Amino acid sequence: MKLFYSLVLFLAFSFGLFSCGENAQEISQPSKTDSSATQPEKTDAPGSSRVSNSHAPVMMQGFYWDVPKGGTWWDVVKTKIPEWSKAGITSVWLPPASKAQNGALSMGYDPTDYFDLGEFDQNGSVETRFGSREELESLIAVAHNNNIEVYADIVINHNSGGQLEDNQYTNKPYYTKFEVKSGKFDRSQHDFHPNHIHNNDSKVFGGFPDLCHHHFYVQDWLWKADYSYAKFLKNDIGFDGWRFDFVKGFEPWVVKEWLKHNGGFSVGELWDGNAATLEWWANEANSSAFDFACYYAMKDAFDGKNLEKLKNDMLLKRNPFKAVTFVSNHDTNEIWNKHMAYAYILTHEGLPCIFYRDYEEWLDKDKLNNLIWIHDNLAGGSTTVLHTDNDEYVAKRNGYGGKSGLIVYFNTSDNWQERWIETNWSNTRIKDYTGHSDWEPVTQAGKWVKIQCPPNSYTVWSVK
Ligand code: ZN
Ligand code: ZN
Ligand code: ZN
Ligand code: ZN
Repeated sequence: MKLFYSLVLFLAFSFGLFSCGENAQEISQPSKTDSSATQPEKTDAPGSSRVSNSHAPVMMQGFYWDVPKGGTWWDVVKTKIPEWSKAGITSVWLPPASKAQNGALSMGYDPTDYFDLGEFDQNGSVETRFGSREELESLIAVAHNNNIEVYADIVINHNSGGQLEDNQYTNKPYYTKFEVKSGKFDRSQHDFHPNHIHNNDSKVFGGFPDLCHHHFYVQDWLWKADYSYAKFLKNDIGFDGWRFDFVKGFEPWVVKEWLKHNGGFSVGELWDGNAATLEWWANEANSSAFDFACYYAMKDAFDGKNLEKLKNDMLLKRNPFKAVTFVSNHDTNEIWNKHMAYAYILTHEGLPCIFYRDYEEWLDKDKLNNLIWIHDNLAGGSTTVLHTDNDEYVAKRNGYGGKSGLIVYFNTSDNWQERWIETNWSNTRIKDYTGHSDWEPVTQAGKWVKIQCPPNSYTVWSVK
């Protein structure tokens, strides 16, 4: 990918496609966009964290589309933190915190001033929809005190809320003039596509001015320089990691560079059900990705009542360490058989993400807490699928470290079902940790045992 880019630039340069001096400077040093070869950055050691949490990681998506207006959301989340921590949540993903075009109404995905987290009178208000910078910092302090990491939602594909200016690249006035109240990262026509570097990168999001990440000025302000947005969020505000919005809109090296300069956990929103595509992006970006392949497979399996679909390819099967699994989010809420889907992601590999409304409003919190406990205490090691047919699925986690492993049994039929399966334990009493079955069978010397599952439900078996 990068090699290809350098080659294109080289050819473009050779054939004199660029004219102004700034271009020549940029393309004569292609290695600068690929900093793998150049200066080591001063960052924390990779994986270092300001909180120390011994639980198995579980993320909370700490918002939904159209959370209440009025600048109260940071405070709402803050009050939830201690309970989430007790339940075993280890990180929370917050909505984009910067001042956006829609001001106090915006959900943050139309960013204007990255450095205005609710402290400048701009776009009709001082606070954002979620509150003030002070309230955000207070929420983060409470999260850290409760050993919960906080992830920032990073919207860097496009901007919104600029002023009209004559634009030499579009030959007509365009909204590419950003003179922002923070005084940081003013932008103009040269920072967006099309510009002197090229016409576009990947996908354009609506009609929003599309940032050019090849431009050094943009790189410095977003992630590279000491005064960058990333370092501001990390060092001044206290964020521990990143969720990258709409990564289809730019190339994966952008995220890789961001992480190289700033470290921290990272997950990208690549909205694509193809597991191979997700794996490609995760490798190129050196980042986790939301497992949309798992999401669509669960939709077909649990709602479509065909558990054979759980055999589908998923990112979590290709690389469990780069898969963030989820059941719903602020954009998509299609799965309705949600308890089963949460039972799937909290017993299988990958980093599960729980949606705020599912946890706080829509589902049975005790059942979710039970699954989080199971994930934390039993769900270790590799996965072996023991049985799949259209209405039953049985898989075991083989155990790892202090975790004895488990056997999860799904049944989408309208009847109780039971099945002989081979466990990893001989002459051992096991039980269902969900409480859906009261059997406590003892495995045979050869490790076989009969387990059961109620209609349209799940059971999770492990050593008693
Ligand atoms: Zn560009
Ligand atoms: Zn783009
Ligand atoms: Zn989105
Ligand atoms: Zn069956």
